[in-house]
Amino acid sequence: MPPQRGCTNPGSHRFAGPFGRLAFRDRARHDRPPSVNPLVRVIPAFFVRLFARPYVAGDSLAKAMEVVQRLHRERDLLATLDLLAEDIRTEEQARSNLDTYLAMVDAVAASSLPPAARPTLSLKPSSYTNRPLHEGGDGTGSLAAITAIAERARAKGVAITVDMEGRQWTDFTLDALHKLHAAGHTHVGCVLQTRLHRTEQDLKTLPKGIRVRLVIGIYREPAEIALVDKPAMKERMLSFAEQLLRAGHYVEFGTHDDTYVRRFLGEVVPRTGVGKDRYEVQMLFGVPRERFLADLRRQGVTARLYVPFALSWSMAIQYLRRRLDEYPAMVWLVTKNLFARR
Ligand code: FAD
Repeated sequence: MPPQRGCTNPGSHRFAGPFGRLAFRDRARHDRPPSVNPLVRVIPAFFVRLFARPYVAGDSLAKAMEVVQRLHRERDLLATLDLLAEDIRTEEQARSNLDTYLAMVDAVAASSLPPAARPTLSLKPSSYTNRPLHEGGDGTGSLAAITAIAERARAKGVAITVDMEGRQWTDFTLDALHKLHAAGHTHVGCVLQTRLHRTEQDLKTLPKGIRVRLVIGIYREPAEIALVDKPAMKERMLSFAEQLLRAGHYVEFGTHDDTYVRRFLGEVVPRTGVGKDRYEVQMLFGVPRERFLADLRRQGVTARLYVPFALSWSMAIQYLRRRLDEYPAMVWLVTKNLFARR
């Protein structure tokens, strides 16, 4: 288990929320997300923490596991657990992220949840290198770390998903997935972003039977290589999901747009004739979709939340900035809640 930073009384300060104990090491030089709206990029880190905190499950692995268990007990939802670990500057940070992921595998395997309800783990290749590809580095350490996690996860019966990051990582990530599957790591799933034009080809050359999370993609990409129109990205989710289902893949339909979830379930699934064991719907923890998810569960559709937790704010801030960039209205929702609790 990696060392966890000191805690006095989490949650004791109304505005610090559950993250009062997080070490605040946000340094200006670290805080430069490559693909976020310039306006969101200049919001001071303190406000990012405040407004984006509903998206984070807690400040320790133990708390994140409690959230996962509660989601299952109270809402019959599955989870995929993610350590917010971006913007790595030192080999020690990279090593510590690997150690935390190995501890996550052990914690999931030891959990009291029934095996089918145990969370999967989601991870980002950039978490294990201080030479990230999106800054011109060579990604040293990423493949070895992902392989080590995949090996431990296979031994313990835990499924993992390799998230998809910005365009600089696409080839690297898909190559890694091919290598892992060639080595028998069929418990490792991938993510495809429908905004990228290349995805149309990529989905035809995936490892056979690999589990695929389909999303529009959160990273802003240039118009030469990607769609910039959201409805068009979502239309592609439907056609790509159909191709993936027909090709025998398990599809994880990742969107909060209920119109497209309904169209996936009402149009795509019946056309392909696959059963409920071939797909699931995924959303992010913190996005208010309780009623819709409850409806899906009543219909017997598997639903999973992506549950991030953080051990250090400096490594969480970029994820949170992307969430605010994607949904600035969160600022008003959180402000309203703060005053409502007074
Ligand atoms: P939107 O049009 O953005 O959202 C639809 C509606 O949902 C909005 O109108 C709003 O009401 C609500 N909503 C959306 N986002 C928020 C929010 N943050 N807060 C509150 N309400 C909101 N992207 C990657 O590039 N790589 C990945 O590996 C990746 N993994 C993901 C895993 C999961 C489980 C999910 C759900 C998303 C993931 N994403 C990933 C992000 C994804 O690409 C989209 O950026 C994100 O899902 C928003 O797009 P949307 O399809 O929900 O549509």
